[in-house]
Amino acid sequence: MAETQGKVITCKAAVAWGPKEPLVIQEICVDPPQKMEVRVKILYSSICHTDLGAWTGVNEAERAFPRILGHEAVGIVESVGEGVKDVKEGDYVIPTFNGECGECRVCTNGVSNLCERYKVDPMKRLMVNDGGTRFSTTTNKEGGSSQKQHVYHFLNTSTFTEYTVLDSACVVKIDPNAPLKQMSLLSCGVSTGVGAAWNTANVKEGTTTAVFGLGSVGLAVAEGARARGASRIIGIDANASKFEKGKLMGVTDFVNPKDLTKPVHERIRELMSGGVDYSFECTGNVDVLREAFLSTQAGWGSTVLVGIYPTPKTLPLHPMELFDGRTITGSIFGGFKPKSQLPNFAQQCMKGVVKLEPFITNELPFEKINDAFQLLRDGKSLRCLLQISKFLKK
Ligand code: NAD
Ligand code: ZN
Ligand code: ZN
Repeated sequence: MAETQGKVITCKAAVAWGPKEPLVIQEICVDPPQKMEVRVKILYSSICHTDLGAWTGVNEAERAFPRILGHEAVGIVESVGEGVKDVKEGDYVIPTFNGECGECRVCTNGVSNLCERYKVDPMKRLMVNDGGTRFSTTTNKEGGSSQKQHVYHFLNTSTFTEYTVLDSACVVKIDPNAPLKQMSLLSCGVSTGVGAAWNTANVKEGTTTAVFGLGSVGLAVAEGARARGASRIIGIDANASKFEKGKLMGVTDFVNPKDLTKPVHERIRELMSGGVDYSFECTGNVDVLREAFLSTQAGWGSTVLVGIYPTPKTLPLHPMELFDGRTITGSIFGGFKPKSQLPNFAQQCMKGVVKLEPFITNELPFEKINDAFQLLRDGKSLRCLLQISKFLKK
């Protein structure tokens, strides 16, 4: 906006000061965007399990405080830095934690979405341009005044703030007529799940699928498999309350590990006469990954790993088990190249190929962000949408 362009903006943000400490809504300063950066006014942000992981600080190496978390959002461009050509002030955009520079060896080949410069990096906390932050505060966590201190970025995005600064590689322009609240889901959870089914596994019509973990990511996998015409979709979750939602996303059978006296893979092999064609691990638990791997059909079964593993534990497989012909692969952001492919995916969602409404189970004002975290921790929400900034359109 003309009146703020080139100036520091003072606004509200939810700052994480330490592992598991309630986020503090406080004033921060947001610097103008530098070369190839974009400053975005965040309208809505939802919460993903990866935010919870960073907040709890399970992986000590990834800890960085004070920090602004959040990576699933939709916003409007406030101003752009030198050299930014593909978005301009007033454009509706979604931030993406896995960027696309469009120029590196990876971006210019069709195989992978892991851009050499801007791919997701949970360790990254500073901007590429100058190794600095664009956020600072002179308010401490008790609300008193303090020396100016920098506030770290998170996952190329940081969306729990009224204004954020992103590398332009991590900003995707969307149709201004798109339903904005739902577009927030494309920033991570739904794109990750649907893309894992479409791009990584390439689920075929008439095949069978098992989805481990029925949060938003797992249910988006189910929705993607349903849209591709999978004949059976087995949902596995230790929280039976997820099964109702699962039915809406095409889940045909449910397995609760708590109800079994045998390993889950044995139950799935019984149900599916040998195993499923595809399995997806969406809980972030390595033991579940083993069950997912063993649930597929010997000879051609394919397992896609989507969950994030903050523990130092390694893959629980014996190499000989790979001789049974099962394969295993990982999927980041559903294999989508964000700038080249998300606008088209958003159009498909708007046409109803993928249903977005059921994923937003709760809406809260920004000030209630700690309640929204608690809902996700308790398994009581899929996505809780926070209204971050007030705005007039729509
Ligand atoms: P969520 O917390 O909403 O859902 C996780 C689900 O798994 C819950 O329903 C929970 O009950 C279930 N669960 C947990 N442990 C289980 C167990 N042992 N057995 C059976 N069910 C179990 O989380 P989400 O937001 O859907 O995210 C899911 C995972 O995907 C997280 O690990 C997240 O960090 C990861 N993720 C990965 C990417 C990527 O690009 N690869 C992107 C987004 C999220
Ligand atoms: Zn996420
Ligand atoms: Zn690149």
